[in-house]
Amino acid sequence: MDTLVSLSKRRGFIFQSSEIYGGTGSCWDYGPLGVELKQNIKRLWWRDYIQRRPDMVGLDASILMHPTVWKASGHVDNFTDPMVDCLECRRRFRADKVDETPWVHYCAATKGNKFTIPSGEPCSHCGERRTLCPECGKGSLTPPRQFNLMFKTFMGPVEEDASQTYLRPETAQGIFVNFDNVAQSMRRKLPFGIGQIGKAFRNEITPGNFIFRTREFEQMEIEYFVNPRDTVEGKPADEYWHERWIADSLAWFQRYGLRAENLRLREHEKDELAHYAKRTADIEYRFPIGWSELMGIANRTDFDLKQHAQFSGKALSYFDEERKEHVVPYVIEPSAGVDRALLAFLADAYQEEEVRGEKRVVLRFHPELAPVKVAILPLLKKRDDVVRTAHAIRDTLAKHWTVVYDDTAAIGRLYRRQDEVGTPYCVTVDVQTVGDTDKGESADGKVTIRDRDSMEQVRVPIDALPAVFLDLLSGGSWAAVASRFP
Ligand SMILES: [Zn+2]
Ligand SMILES: [Zn+2]
Repeated sequence: MDTLVSLSKRRGFIFQSSEIYGGTGSCWDYGPLGVELKQNIKRLWWRDYIQRRPDMVGLDASILMHPTVWKASGHVDNFTDPMVDCLECRRRFRADKVDETPWVHYCAATKGNKFTIPSGEPCSHCGERRTLCPECGKGSLTPPRQFNLMFKTFMGPVEEDASQTYLRPETAQGIFVNFDNVAQSMRRKLPFGIGQIGKAFRNEITPGNFIFRTREFEQMEIEYFVNPRDTVEGKPADEYWHERWIADSLAWFQRYGLRAENLRLREHEKDELAHYAKRTADIEYRFPIGWSELMGIANRTDFDLKQHAQFSGKALSYFDEERKEHVVPYVIEPSAGVDRALLAFLADAYQEEEVRGEKRVVLRFHPELAPVKVAILPLLKKRDDVVRTAHAIRDTLAKHWTVVYDDTAAIGRLYRRQDEVGTPYCVTVDVQTVGDTDKGESADGKVTIRDRDSMEQVRVPIDALPAVFLDLLSGGSWAAVASRFP
């Protein structure tokens, strides 16, 4: 993890928020390359799930919603963690995590000497277990109290209870309250889904592990509505579609580079299921911190639509033409975090290898995820015609892709820099490209393309570059291109 954090800062992927002021806890800023990577993840998700599927549409609901939404959804009453406070140092801990960190102990058996004891273990001198604050070792802890994880804020100029609302803790509710608007305006028949990408906020007590758990994060959520009375392939429709979405989600992450051995499915036990859920499965990824949730796929039944119908007084149902009756759809919710997906893609792409006795760091991003697709590198920056040609190639390719020009180092170092940020292809412009009239050598109009993964090079006419990169960047293989330009 430290390696990824340091690479992210050094190469402009991710910076600590407000760093010059000492940083803000668990907030991170995406730098020039990080924002490209993040946009690519969101763009591919939107393209694959919203644009390419006939049964899906998109939505962009507002972050601030009517406060009753969060009463209806259960967040006001249930979205809480049990907290304890130290009466001495005022630090606050999650009641169920307080024994998961090492604890400070002033031991009466050794004249009050101070020890730091591993989490969950007793003192080896007096045998006592932790009862006081684990941080200061002096204060006693209050009984657990429920602490709501939603960020409170006020609408309008008056800070009073009537104007209090929340930053949304999930994007899902924006979809539920718009169910009827979307179904009517888009003339949808079940089954159909609504997808949304947006920020959500949770006042986590113990955020951490880089961008894995943050108080402000971005979600990619789908609510897929099905008719619970339908049967598909011998199964209730909600169970059938739940299976389909689990399989689709696993395949999506693998398509863009996560290795199968780093992914696994974990079923929620009955006692950890949310009260509204019939079944929930997490896709877990082997992060640098160990196996952890990458996304969840829940069967939320008809809970949310029924709650909002009850609290709003508006019917949120669907008229089943076949059975001539109203039905409240069940909903399958594939919910992924953009930041976690980015961390997984980054971790999976990172490799160190030895090339001719030197360490090479390379991010083997899928070409569609790579922040920069092509780097244009002039071999001789003193030759005007070489530099001019390189800039012209950059301008042409930049109409289609994110392309950079770099002449600030020798070619070996320029390649290493691009490997380290995952650029799949480099183009070098040299003297042969433009010719050398002094030596009577004519221009060949060709440039060299270098492949990041194999480090092989081929020489290609400048005119052919747009077609070659269109092929390579939309799934074409390097081997096929290499055989066309021997
Ligand atoms: Zn304390
Ligand atoms: Zn002791």
